[in-house]
Amino acid sequence: MMYKVLSDTELILLIIGVIYLSECLLWLPDQAVAFSAAFGRLKPAWRPAFLQRIDSHAEILSLVPWSRSVIAADWPIAVSPDGLCILSGSKSGTFISFDELKSVEADQRTLRLNRIATKFAASDGAAYVAKLLQELRSLPADQRSDVLNVAVESSFSLADVSRRLENVERATSNLRIVSLFLFLWVFVHGSVLYYTVEPHPGMLTRYLTPLGILWLTGIVLFAFAQRRLLTNSSTEQISRIATMCFSPAGVMRASSAITREAFSAFNPAAVAAVVMWSSSFRATVCERLRHLQHPSEADFPVASDEFKMARDWFRNQHLTALMKMLAEMSIAPEDLLKSPIRDNDARTWCPRCLNQYTLESGTCHDCVDISLLGFAESAGESCSATQK
Ligand SMILES: [Zn+2]
Repeated sequence: MMYKVLSDTELILLIIGVIYLSECLLWLPDQAVAFSAAFGRLKPAWRPAFLQRIDSHAEILSLVPWSRSVIAADWPIAVSPDGLCILSGSKSGTFISFDELKSVEADQRTLRLNRIATKFAASDGAAYVAKLLQELRSLPADQRSDVLNVAVESSFSLADVSRRLENVERATSNLRIVSLFLFLWVFVHGSVLYYTVEPHPGMLTRYLTPLGILWLTGIVLFAFAQRRLLTNSSTEQISRIATMCFSPAGVMRASSAITREAFSAFNPAAVAAVVMWSSSFRATVCERLRHLQHPSEADFPVASDEFKMARDWFRNQHLTALMKMLAEMSIAPEDLLKSPIRDNDARTWCPRCLNQYTLESGTCHDCVDISLLGFAESAGESCSATQK
């Protein structure tokens, strides 16, 4: 049995190690994406296929203690000047007009709209959208589109994301250094002491005193950083600090806890554009652009006309803002919407998911209502396809 094989010290190190690893695994709603890297620009975190649920999934951040990570997410609702659509959860497909919207409550990562719960990736995101909806509800219908336009456009602002990233890095730089030293002190120095040095009087005190100082300093720096960067309620901030008082591994990954929340106001495409290498960004934004350009009705087959109109309005705002952002980056959307490299016997392809078919025409099996395009007739074929 493990408890007979391991000494008390080894068991403590093992438990802290397991908690550290669990801090690197995030359980996120489907609309969220995590970026993480130990060096240089960030890349999408590992998303294991066996840890996927209907509306959520796990993402594993870089395990390296000095790694950086950022989480961004789309909203789980669509908003138009008329009302809002629930896009995920048990009530997905529901439309609520602003006249019918009686209550808007943000409770950590959950936003309740007329008591219908929607899950955000971060509590800052839920609080931000709750504030926006309360403002929209109080406005006359003809003034809502201007407010929404500003909100969508600012969520795609590369300058704002870059500024935010600089602020986050500045506010968490000392915290990341302390977190790294705490990691090294616990796992590296602790192991070296345990396995190579004979126990002697005062040894434990000399080990635990710096550990306590690092732990406490990390908690204090985390408290300052989250107060500076996040808009969470003070109760939630205190609750996080209290958790760290019982978990040195939590302090080792403290900067991840902040970056999970800090980019809530931004669209994942804009965040990806700033934190990723250009080539990786193109691959990431490609799918997003195709989905906006070719919406499928399959996700909400029985939705009302009001729902569809509001969702389409919201989607068009995002498509316009994304196009504008790509223009700012000198990326031609046509380049991202090209046909895939043609398989030998393929005759058509789906412009939404890029699946290829031997059919001459028809609709995509996965996207249901998306008409297939012929390789020869599609406007933006890739070089390899053109050569065939
Ligand atoms: Zn498809």
